[in-house]
Amino acid sequence: MAVKSRHDEYFDELETMPPSARRAYQDRKIAERVAYVYQHCPAVKKMLDEAGITPQSIRKVSDLERLPIIRKTDLIEMQKAHPPFGGILAIPAEDVERIFVSPGPIYEVQPSHVRWFAKSFWAAGFRKGDIVINTFTYHLSPAGMLFHEAVRHCGATVVVAGTGNTDLQIQVMKELRVNGFVGTPSFLMTVIKRAEEMGLNIRRDLNLRRAWFTGEMLPQSLRKTFEGEYGIDTYQAYAVTEPGGAIAYECREKSGMHLMDEFITEIVDPQTGRQLGPGEVGEIVTTQLQNPDWGLIRFGTGDLSSLTTEPCPCGRTAYRLTGILGRAGDAVKVRGMFIVAKQAEQAIMGPGEVSRYQLIVGRREHRDELTLRIELREGSKTDRNKLSLDINNRFQDICRIRIDRIEFVEPGTIPEKAQGIRDERKWD
Ligand SMILES: [Zn+2]
Repeated sequence: MAVKSRHDEYFDELETMPPSARRAYQDRKIAERVAYVYQHCPAVKKMLDEAGITPQSIRKVSDLERLPIIRKTDLIEMQKAHPPFGGILAIPAEDVERIFVSPGPIYEVQPSHVRWFAKSFWAAGFRKGDIVINTFTYHLSPAGMLFHEAVRHCGATVVVAGTGNTDLQIQVMKELRVNGFVGTPSFLMTVIKRAEEMGLNIRRDLNLRRAWFTGEMLPQSLRKTFEGEYGIDTYQAYAVTEPGGAIAYECREKSGMHLMDEFITEIVDPQTGRQLGPGEVGEIVTTQLQNPDWGLIRFGTGDLSSLTTEPCPCGRTAYRLTGILGRAGDAVKVRGMFIVAKQAEQAIMGPGEVSRYQLIVGRREHRDELTLRIELREGSKTDRNKLSLDINNRFQDICRIRIDRIEFVEPGTIPEKAQGIRDERKWD
């Protein structure tokens, strides 16, 4: 593609479609999409056939209400029943270019050279000449590669950093004069704090000017710190891995996230699947329109939000998500990773020393914190240090995140009903 100049505000013409044109576009696209995935994905065909729905009868976005919602847990079951892709692969297996592995595990397929995520980075101001450090993992999860390609589509240069190695990342940022950051807000804060410990002045010694975040929410107070204290312009996007990446993004107004036109995103009642109107809080459900490889439709993210239809001064006409307001399901997002209750249990209970547990998600100094409280079996003589280590290693293998603190409590401390994951985070 021809790289655009810094002065072009919009990435493509879809972003500024008049609302009536968008409605017609979306209705046409969803009809085409359902027909395509019905033809190519056995799981979708089965789902529609069983519900007595013909693909021809899905002619507009509101018709989607008639289809069931597929959630993370459904996807895991579908893939177990029909390995490895659960009947939603839409191309011959030998044509698959790359496979990502999300927590579950869930196998996802994406072609390369996907362009549409770039508009999120474009709206954040990434352009040719920028040097952007991508701190999302390039292992298993799609985040690293997809965002890498998206930054490239804006014309910028990418430093292939991945996660961890904070000190080295700081050195690289300094020496390469990195001016763009892609990652989570908490990791940027870790970088800043560490750089200050190393005696660096962020404004003077580093060249960080803009940051693009996803994977966790950006509290207003933290945004103020980044922008006010450190002079880093911040943008956030809402991304979901199963349907394949960022589905909503902030513009310079930073007042909600515009929905991407490459997805049909609904806000629905999580119990009934009925679509809700602007301002009503419900679950974000999304359907990919463009990926020829992957036929996941009506994916229920478990995240709660609402839509605003107020015109945005930036000129983009897509409705905006007002923010992420909480979780509808049983999976909880911690430091950008979903922890699925079942997997957490598998990791914690292990070979049977633990009789009851409670995993608490808290937040301290802008970072999600995991505390595990466990009760041991009556009369257990187990070595607690070793058990803590074993649990944390298993937890990291299965859930791909570390527990910050493990506390042993007396048997009978944790009520039976309190077993499981408890999210105690509060968002300002
Ligand atoms: Zn806008």
